[in-house]
Amino acid sequence: MQTPSADGASPSMSQWFAMKADHPNALLFFRMGDFYELFFADAEAAAAALDIALTARGEHGGAPIPMCGVPVHARDAYLARLIRRGFRVALAEQMEDPKKRTGRGPLKREVVRIITPGTLTEEALLDAAAPNLLLALAEAATSRGGGRQSPPPMLGAAWLDISTGQFETACLAKADLPALLGRLDPAEIVADAAIHVGPWDERRAADAPATAPRPEEARHRLAEAFAVASLDAFGSFEDVEAVAAVLALDYVRRTQAGRLPHLSRPQPQGARGVLAMDAATRASLEISETRTGETGRHTLLAAIRRTVTPGGVRLLAGWLHAPLTDQSAIVARQDAWDFLLLQGALTERLRERLRAAPDLARALARLALGQGTPRDLAATADGLKIADEIAQCLKDERLPEALPPLLAEARTALGALPDLAAYLAGALADPVPVRLEDGRAIAPGFDAELDAERGLRDEQRQILARVQLDYAERYGVASLKIKHHAQLGYVIEVPAAAAEKLRDRPELVLRQGLAAGARFTSTELSELDRRIAAAADRAAARERVVFDHLVARTLAERAAISACAAALARVDALQGAARLAEAAGWCRPLITEDEALQISGGRHPVVEAALSGKAVFVPNDCDLSPPQRLMLLTGPNMAGKSTFLRQNALIVLMAQAGLPVPASSASIGIVDRLFSRVGAADDLARGRSTFMVEMTETAAILHQGGPRSLVVVDEIGRGTATLDGLAIAWAVLEALHNTIRCRAIFATHFHELARLTGIMPRLQPATMRIKDWKGSVIFLHEVTHGAAGRSWGVHVAALAGVPAPVVKRAAHLLATLEKSGPLTVSAELPLFAAAQKQHDDADTETGERAATPAPDVLREALAEIDPERLTARQALESLYRLKELVSGSPAADSLAS
Ligand code: ADP
Ligand code: MG
Repeated sequence: MQTPSADGASPSMSQWFAMKADHPNALLFFRMGDFYELFFADAEAAAAALDIALTARGEHGGAPIPMCGVPVHARDAYLARLIRRGFRVALAEQMEDPKKRTGRGPLKREVVRIITPGTLTEEALLDAAAPNLLLALAEAATSRGGGRQSPPPMLGAAWLDISTGQFETACLAKADLPALLGRLDPAEIVADAAIHVGPWDERRAADAPATAPRPEEARHRLAEAFAVASLDAFGSFEDVEAVAAVLALDYVRRTQAGRLPHLSRPQPQGARGVLAMDAATRASLEISETRTGETGRHTLLAAIRRTVTPGGVRLLAGWLHAPLTDQSAIVARQDAWDFLLLQGALTERLRERLRAAPDLARALARLALGQGTPRDLAATADGLKIADEIAQCLKDERLPEALPPLLAEARTALGALPDLAAYLAGALADPVPVRLEDGRAIAPGFDAELDAERGLRDEQRQILARVQLDYAERYGVASLKIKHHAQLGYVIEVPAAAAEKLRDRPELVLRQGLAAGARFTSTELSELDRRIAAAADRAAARERVVFDHLVARTLAERAAISACAAALARVDALQGAARLAEAAGWCRPLITEDEALQISGGRHPVVEAALSGKAVFVPNDCDLSPPQRLMLLTGPNMAGKSTFLRQNALIVLMAQAGLPVPASSASIGIVDRLFSRVGAADDLARGRSTFMVEMTETAAILHQGGPRSLVVVDEIGRGTATLDGLAIAWAVLEALHNTIRCRAIFATHFHELARLTGIMPRLQPATMRIKDWKGSVIFLHEVTHGAAGRSWGVHVAALAGVPAPVVKRAAHLLATLEKSGPLTVSAELPLFAAAQKQHDDADTETGERAATPAPDVLREALAEIDPERLTARQALESLYRLKELVSGSPAADSLAS
């Protein structure tokens, strides 16, 4: 339904209408006492999404107003569901206390926050193991001259995580946007509609972004937001980066009602520096999410995660999604975990401390946004204390050698705030309550004034106890109690039988007569109630003052605290790497600047973990050195091709993330782009079976790949007819070999392609070893030199439980087909000829093996026909025969005789 006109609305509904007009794209959570209420279309949408009752409240324009409500204490759970379903929520809070106000008219209310997917801070709404990013994109203003020399279109990108303060920017070519989106997986995107984000379109922020500021203005405002005179202090920013950064900040300000959370200074991520991977590659490698959307199991992150803190696992995920391309940066990480690996006792002490560490980054973010609770302060105190302990461990004079630079840096950040830790720990009660309103957040003895107020409040409560005794005596009812009642305040409660004794007392007023008892009030009690409430209020007010002081004191150090949180995460990620490295069969890879790639005894970390206990994972070598940089891998289904392909891609990814790798040794020449592709048929689970998708992804490799890329392609061309597929696979293989000249592993079930080794000198044929045992197949999962002889598809079908008659029939058909051989690749196929020609032109090295043409029955049959001599009937018969030859039907044999 539409929101009706506000004409004739009641005073509080007028307030609602005004707020709704400001936030048309959000559900308005309108605070009414202990509930948030939603009206009109908001109510209908929320009731449906949350499966709660839709009722009505009052009337507007002669019709009831649809309404639903959510209790304040259960807010986060409901918000989580709404945000997950793509809604945004505007929170309108009561800005005055209904009990204390004096004026008339509706309570003052304000929208204090808009909750959107990219601006979450609540623990309940966030995944502790993953960042939650808001991404802003800006396009460079196109030079009006245009013309041929204009540079490729560039984009500015800025992304931030307000739950941790991370803030980074980049300037990139438009063509690299998919890779960036894949890497960041942003929860929300702020970008002009003219910037296409493809499948991420549904993550666009609901509000159109504000018009982009001009570059000078953007630089100025960005510098201002971080209180520096010039942006140069932060590194070199392109104009578009600064513009994108300001768009992001503006969006956050709008959602936080003008407040800006704590953010680390923006860090430009030079265009080089990270291994580029697009979304298809990330999906096929299942880095932090499987193809079916699972995150907890069967992902690379889950298999190699040995971290013990939320910050540590977020950092590790960040490393896996942005492996490095800078040799010294990679080696710095290796040196750090290598050190921890050698210093086993030290590392154990670090782990023990880390296990107790809270999520410091997210606690700080909530405090900075004014959403902090006593628990967030306590978490800060604990986090800083643990940080200091870790700094002390790392300072240990008994360490035999100097700390590697990454750990030395971390130590400095970790030991920066011992005083604040002690101060907060002394100020807070233990344990602290969930909410400040629950009281007792501040430890006794910390603030004299608070102690005094609490003393007065408690004194009043003792008076109450005396008054109770007093009344019991005066009215002769021993079981008389004074209780607090939500509406009535303090009441006298007596059993029903005793009610008569109190009924006629002029100083008492009967408020409720219950079967179980009766309740009375008196002016004396009301007076006492007022005094107790006032004392409690004063104590609560003082507690809030002390709390605010502690928060301010904490936030004064927020840059140092956030550095401390980052250092904790780093130490955790590094100890996790050391843990991995200590397992048998893991090694520190050698990182080189050349184009080598040699892996011995490599394994797939996820498949190996999944097999553990059930079967032994067979390690395999892989050598893609320049003279044999393109591996053509053939072998039957289920032989282990896909596993081998991905394991090598993952080993490169982990090596460049600075981590140990699952191999006995590895030498990795730094890769600048990684492509991993899966044939359409393997992707059915995702409902993206179309051949079109497969080809689009292939096109990306051919456009963006270069000599430093690593490409792993799995059964490309599977999603279309056999000949098409073969032709495409062949052409792609050729392009990889001759044009892109990258390192690649190409798995295919088109065994015919193995013949191309004769004309492609750097093609390395490899196959999965199998054992033919009494006519059935045993998979050895071992990669060897050579090409597969046959595909064993029928045997795999039998293994998979296809009924025996069908398997038998398939075996028979296969035999017939192999005899007529309609699909055999022959040198006369136009494609092959073209390949031969291209090869002759492009490459002077000659292959040793020439492809031998297979007998071509169709051609022979055709040659036998003399059209001049045929009757019409004979011509028709010949045509049938030819057709049958093509379809390979057994009838062809009988007709031909
Ligand atoms: P293909 O792509 O050739 O059809 P997969 O790579 O999908 O084969 O492997 C099929 C199954 O074989 C895997 O799920 C795994 O259980 C097993 N497997 C693959 N490689 C190995 C290996 N190196 N050692 C042990 N088992 C393996
Ligand atoms: Mg496969």
